[in-house]
Amino acid sequence: MNNYFIVLAAGRGKRFKSKIPKQFTQYKGIMMIEHSINKAINSKLFKKIVIVAKNNHFKLLKIRQNKKIIFVNGGSERYISSLKGLIAIRKFKPKNVFIHDAARPDFTIKLLKKLSLNLKKNKFVVPYTKLDSSIKIKKNKKFFNFDRDKVYLTQTPQCFDFKDLYQISKNNNKIVTDECSLLINKGLKIKFIKGETSNIKITHNKKFKSNKILYGIGFDVHRLVKNKKLYLGGLKIKSDLGTLGHSDGDPVLHSVTDSILGACGMEDIGQKFSDKKNKYKNIRSTILLKKVIAEINLNKYIINNIDINIITERPKIHNYKEKMKKTIAKLCGIKVSQINIKGKTTEKLGVIGKELAIACEVITSVIKYD
Ligand code: ZN
Repeated sequence: MNNYFIVLAAGRGKRFKSKIPKQFTQYKGIMMIEHSINKAINSKLFKKIVIVAKNNHFKLLKIRQNKKIIFVNGGSERYISSLKGLIAIRKFKPKNVFIHDAARPDFTIKLLKKLSLNLKKNKFVVPYTKLDSSIKIKKNKKFFNFDRDKVYLTQTPQCFDFKDLYQISKNNNKIVTDECSLLINKGLKIKFIKGETSNIKITHNKKFKSNKILYGIGFDVHRLVKNKKLYLGGLKIKSDLGTLGHSDGDPVLHSVTDSILGACGMEDIGQKFSDKKNKYKNIRSTILLKKVIAEINLNKYIINNIDINIITERPKIHNYKEKMKKTIAKLCGIKVSQINIKGKTTEKLGVIGKELAIACEVITSVIKYD
C-alpha cells in the first residue's frame, strides 16, 4: 500500500450562502470535511491524508493530532490546490494518489476499495453515474435532444498513478473542474467505474441545513380539591374534584409548556408567568401556551413531537385522549400525529392514588432552524 489521499477544501463555495465555506460547516452531526477524512483513515488504504484548505480554516478542524494528516495551504483555484497537494507528498514517493472534493461527504469506504482494486490494472480510475433526466441542448436559440446515455457524470474520489498525474498537473495552467478533465484533455485512457448516486456534491445550503434537534422535560402536580373546576390538556372536564392553582391549574398544559421552554433553553413557566402577578390569576393555560409557541416560533424553533404521561386515578384519560391531542396540536400549531398521550395510575398508592393530586410529565423535542 503506497496510496495517498488528498482532500480539496480550499473552495470558497460562491454558490453557498454561508460565511464559512460549506466543507467546514456541520453536516450529519460532524463537520462536512470530517466525513471524508474519517472514511479515508478508516479504510486503512492510505499512508497520509492531505488536507488542502485556506490557512485560516484549519483552526476550525479539531482533528489535528493524527500523524497521518498533513495540512497544505490551498490556492485560488481548484487545480492549483490540487497541485499543491501533490507537491506536498512528492517527497514520500507515492505510487498512487486519490483526489477528493470535501464537498462530497457521502461516498462510501466500499467505493474507495473498489477504486483501489481497479488501480492494480489501470493508471487512472474515475467513478461516474448516469443521468435519469432527459437532456436538451440549446444552440443558437434552438433546442436539440441529446442522448442521455452518452452522458457520464464524474465524481470524486478519483485515483491516479502519482508520477503521471504530477507531471500532467505541473504543466497545466488551465482551470479544470476535476483531474479527470485534465486526462481527457491529454487524450489519456481512463478506467471508468460505477460511482454512487448518493455521492452528491453539496452546493446548496438548503440540502443540509444543520437543524439541531433538542429535548425538554416538563413535570407538574396540582392538588385536587372539591368545588373547583378541572382543566386537563386544555379541556374542561366534568368532575366533582378540581385542581388548585393560581391559573386554571391545568397540570398537562403546564408540563407541556415547561417541556417546550426546556427544549428551547428558555427558562420555565413560573419565570415567564409569575403566580405573584395578578394578571395571571385564573388565566387559562391555553393562553400561556399560545404565547410560548409564538415566542419559540419567532426564535426559529418548531416542535417535533410531544410525549405526555398523565398520572391520575380519575378521570380515565382514555376517554379524553383524542380530544386532548387535537386541542394541544391546535395550540402548538402541529399535527395530531406529533402528540402522544398516555394515561397512568399509581395503583391507588400515594397522594395520586388517594385522589388528592394529579400529576403530569412530558418530553418534547424541538428543531432549531438556522
Ligand atoms: Zn401547574
